[in-house]
Amino acid sequence: MSAFTQEQVQKSLEKIQDPETGRALKKQIKEVVVEDVNITAKIGLTSFAMPIKDSFAKEVNDHLKSDFPDATITVEIVDHSRPATPLGQVGLKAKAVIAVAAGKGGVGKSTAATSLAIGLKRAGCSVGLLDADVYGPSLPHLTGTRGQVTKVDGKIVPLIAEGIPLMSIGFMIPPGEAVIWRGPMLHSAVTTFVRDTDWGELDYLIIDMPPGTGDIALSLSQLLPLTGAVIVCTPQEVALIDAIKAVGMFRKVKIPVLGLIENMSSFICPDNGKSYDIFGKGGAKEYAEQDKIAFLGEIPINIQLRERGDAGKMGDNFNDPDIAPYLDSIAHELVKTLTANAKANPVQVQLPVLG
Ligand code: ADP
Repeated sequence: MSAFTQEQVQKSLEKIQDPETGRALKKQIKEVVVEDVNITAKIGLTSFAMPIKDSFAKEVNDHLKSDFPDATITVEIVDHSRPATPLGQVGLKAKAVIAVAAGKGGVGKSTAATSLAIGLKRAGCSVGLLDADVYGPSLPHLTGTRGQVTKVDGKIVPLIAEGIPLMSIGFMIPPGEAVIWRGPMLHSAVTTFVRDTDWGELDYLIIDMPPGTGDIALSLSQLLPLTGAVIVCTPQEVALIDAIKAVGMFRKVKIPVLGLIENMSSFICPDNGKSYDIFGKGGAKEYAEQDKIAFLGEIPINIQLRERGDAGKMGDNFNDPDIAPYLDSIAHELVKTLTANAKANPVQVQLPVLG
């Protein structure tokens, strides 16, 4: 005879919050088996939260351990599907829309956006990648994706890069051609990107924003609710000043700043294994702490990373032990931040759930 019942374990699990919505687990409790002192719990997690699967399993385990200290606990995380609700007037089906931005060009914003998208995809999320850097679309180059988009049933079909649907102005104009953008044209290009593109159902739409200016951010925020912005900067003090400006710009247009990524943090010399802080160290992290912005991680200067970018093989960075842990960690930290926000402000069910 066990000291606790299956019902008690079920009740205990119902006190845990789902990482995606912050709501109490209910249908996600797939199976609870109690045999003597052994508890086995099968809990469903949506693909949105898969990057934090291990820490969630630990949270469930710790929670049960604290309620049933004498139990031997086994937690198994399984898939739980939850469709994305259409966003704004454009009806884009995405659970989170993340703008990756920088105060100025050349800090590795596109590299970070691509790596974030690939990292989320590899962790099990459904991801789309939008190159909204209309002044210098570099995602076709970084991902080695060439071609022109086609239309099916009036919707633009994005090209596929690293298994991710990718849309770029680079697929709509001849390579190398300069486009002079005026305000209304910018707005209509952005509308085409989000409204007229067949993105399918996404957990995350990652947007590579143009550097500096707020035009595209404003256009986007008029079309759909942006979940937030991730700001990329380098460690130099001048770069930090630009990053702080970018943070201010997003806050001004009421787009939450989700986190900061420091790129080109240090250089590990392949000849002697020594680490050199070429641009200084720690400034971005310190600023993030002061301004209560999550520090999502750093990316060291790495020659292969640059070479793979030029060869259009960014996915290969995830098989490189010198760089993969940094990139994986950024995707993980972003999801950690989003799920912590959801837990603090649970998403309310908008329609009555019947049955
Ligand atoms: P941005 O989008 O900010 O203009 P990119 O992501 O296009 O910057 O990066 C500019 C150049 O710097 C690219 O050639 C890219 O491969 C390189 N680069 C970016 N980050 C790193 C890094 N951590 N190590 C080495 N090269 C990098």
